[in-house]
Amino acid sequence: MSELTVIVPCKNEEEAIPLFYDELIKDTAFLAKRNIDLKVIFINDGSDDGTVSVVRKLHEKDERVHLISFSRNFGKEAAMYAGLKAADSDYAVIMDADLQDPPALLEEMFSYIDEGYDSVATRRVTRKGEPPIRSFFARRFYKLMQKLSDTKIMDGARDYRLMTRQFIDAVLAMTEYNRFTKGIFGWVGYDTKWIDFENVDRSAGKTKWSFWGLVMYSLEGITAFSTKPLILSSLIGMLFCFLAFVMVIFIIVRRLVFGDPVAGWASTVTIIVFVSGVQFFCTGILGQYIAKAYLEVKNRPLYLKNEKNCF
Ligand code: UDP
Ligand code: MG
Repeated sequence: MSELTVIVPCKNEEEAIPLFYDELIKDTAFLAKRNIDLKVIFINDGSDDGTVSVVRKLHEKDERVHLISFSRNFGKEAAMYAGLKAADSDYAVIMDADLQDPPALLEEMFSYIDEGYDSVATRRVTRKGEPPIRSFFARRFYKLMQKLSDTKIMDGARDYRLMTRQFIDAVLAMTEYNRFTKGIFGWVGYDTKWIDFENVDRSAGKTKWSFWGLVMYSLEGITAFSTKPLILSSLIGMLFCFLAFVMVIFIIVRRLVFGDPVAGWASTVTIIVFVSGVQFFCTGILGQYIAKAYLEVKNRPLYLKNEKNCF
């Protein structure tokens, strides 16, 4: 008998969890036919609502339900890692608690595992229900990411993904502190089948993402999976050295030929200001990478468990 672990990161999802559980149980009835056991691990990522007690109630009536609690909020990335680490099964799937990752797709996803795929990933092809400005920047981000990174990151990709043991172990082997799971999934490779679906609105509760939070998340993605911005800053530096050289020649020649007195003060100042701006820009890019390296070197744990709320 094999087993499927469903990993559900939860930050303040007391309203959504019961709806999610009912839907999940309904949509995973097909597992019995396949002789696959179900195990559900909720990850309580520092919730300050009734998430723990809601999951405890579920655990009391269904022993397949488990909870891992963190000591504080560590973020969804850490929660996904903790869930995968706890999964000792042949298959694992990550799902949001808000039913935006429809469990109804699971049966189809398993049919691709039968065909020999190591993971079945999902992407939403529409973004209806989302603020247009957010969709716009999300699209720009994925376009930019395609250009910057050799690791393929699909537009609209969700973290909702069914994985086989081999794939789970590969993801677990990536123990980096600055996690960008969408990139990690692409980086590990293996045969992945993509399934498209239409965006679904949140079942209950509110999104945890602010616009600014998403901006920081995309910077995380870029620095974690591309070093091209560093090359960009070197290129800009070289271009400006070349321009400076051409200008010096121009000034010397002009002085010799025309004996020009003090002139062009405005242009000089403009150039100084511009170039120092470019320097700050490049130092900033460099700083981002150093900051990331600094955090990696500290080798801090990705999360801390609060044992009294784990079962
Ligand atoms: N989540 C989490 N930790 C966080 C933020 C979110 O575990 O710090 C969980 C959240 O409970 C949900 C999933 O991650 O199950 C996706 O979050 P959300 O629905 O807010 O994101 P969106 O779907 O709006 O992108
Ligand atoms: Mg959501």
